[in-house]
Amino acid sequence: MHTAEIRRRFLDHFEQAGHTVVPSAPLLFDDPNLLFVNAGMVPFKPYFLGQETPPWQTATSVQKCVRTLDIEEVGKTTRHGTFFQMNGNFSFGDYFKEGAITHAWRLITGSVADGGLGIDADKIWVTVLHSDQEAREIWRRVAGLPDERIQDRGLLDNYWHMGVPGPGGPCSEIYVDRGPEFGPDGGPVVDEDRFLEIWNLVFMQEEIANVRAKDQFDVIGELPNKNIDTGMGLERVAYLLQGKGNLYEIDEVFPVIEKASEVSGRTYGKDHADDVRFRVVADHVRSGLMLMGDGVTPGNEARGYVLRRLLRRAVRSMRLLGFEDPALPLLLPVSLERMKASYPELEADFPRIEQIAYAEEDAFRQTLGKGTQIFESAAVKVKESGGSGLSGEAAFTLHDTYGFPIDITLEMAAEKGLSVDEEGFRSLMAEQRSRAKADAKAKKGSHADTTVYRSALDANGPTDWQAYTTLTTESR
Ligand code: ATP
Ligand code: MG
Ligand code: MG
Ligand code: MG
Repeated sequence: MHTAEIRRRFLDHFEQAGHTVVPSAPLLFDDPNLLFVNAGMVPFKPYFLGQETPPWQTATSVQKCVRTLDIEEVGKTTRHGTFFQMNGNFSFGDYFKEGAITHAWRLITGSVADGGLGIDADKIWVTVLHSDQEAREIWRRVAGLPDERIQDRGLLDNYWHMGVPGPGGPCSEIYVDRGPEFGPDGGPVVDEDRFLEIWNLVFMQEEIANVRAKDQFDVIGELPNKNIDTGMGLERVAYLLQGKGNLYEIDEVFPVIEKASEVSGRTYGKDHADDVRFRVVADHVRSGLMLMGDGVTPGNEARGYVLRRLLRRAVRSMRLLGFEDPALPLLLPVSLERMKASYPELEADFPRIEQIAYAEEDAFRQTLGKGTQIFESAAVKVKESGGSGLSGEAAFTLHDTYGFPIDITLEMAAEKGLSVDEEGFRSLMAEQRSRAKADAKAKKGSHADTTVYRSALDANGPTDWQAYTTLTTESR
């Protein structure tokens, strides 16, 4: 079943049940706590928090999401994309636990002929919060699930809140057993690779306060209006229903892998390290396309840095696959072809998007060309002297003189089995910063040398966002 078809079935199911279909918000939705929208409920937050009255009692959407936290997982697990789409259904004081569970069960196990997704009921496992006997009882009654396939979990995994006083509540997650060849028995509490999480149902039922940690807070009362927020990973369901082994092989993503394989001459599915690179390429090219489509441009500040990092990792992964020519002009149009059915606005905007992407690749190629040579000779020296790590000074020179970002140095060193003295690198960066500050003070009335702190941002951005804030305030 095509990804677009699963999306359509999801929306149809909930529309037929009276939900208003709400279009995806842009990835750059205005939320001071988030770089990007990372869940379907984000645009609805003011309703859940009681700050605004929702115009409808029930809604459904397919929301574009970016989770930068998952960047290191891409290609290594079978299920994490940096960009993905979250199907959701939402109830604002309308149906609650029983309604949410009934809807989910009917949609995923309903026959394909009747508009369902046709997933085998015997393969479904769920988790509930240990104290949520009500949810357990509903799963038993509505879905006929045997007790052993309804697993208990603690607050850390199965309680949802926003980290601030406000609504909170237990959640229940739905998993599909991919089969014994993918891991041990025992359900999702034992193995989340074999048992693939596809859907999270959140039951917002109480008000919490004094949030001290994810699993430490006080429940101060019941909410007057109980709400439902759910999120189903569209790509995850697609990967199951398309009979694939991971989400990089679905119809919306795999053609980029095929193109990368065609132009690099390397075969997908032969070598594990290469396969991870292929998946990183396909994932990052798509995420880059979606971010640029929503107006992000590469840069050294937080959001722009994420995009820069995604595009550069894609380009570098192509190099590791042996392809040294400009890659994005070959790959980005393939991703566009796949995504434009669901996001037609991308096509009209593509001339702008491709210009941004190709300029970024050009700039990066220049940096890489110089930096790689310097890195290689530094690495040879380390090995010859019997060492196991690159000095902070070498990493600093690469960064400072050749504009080689520290995350690339870290990755390249790791590939050679070398460590990097990151602490040394950071203290050299700090020294440079205070020098720049002193210089700026000396040159009364003139600006701080912005190139210095911009390159510092370049270095610190990906690993420590705090550095960005600190640096900018310091430099002012
Ligand atoms: P996981 O435990 O696999 O990292 P999660 O518990 O972090 O997933 P939720 O926050 O519950 O995910 O998000 C709701 C749904 O969105 C998940 O059940 C999953 O289907 C999907 N999802 C979450 N993260 C990703 C991702 N990085 N790529 C693709 N789908 C995702
Ligand atoms: Mg996660
Ligand atoms: Mg999870
Ligand atoms: Mg989850």
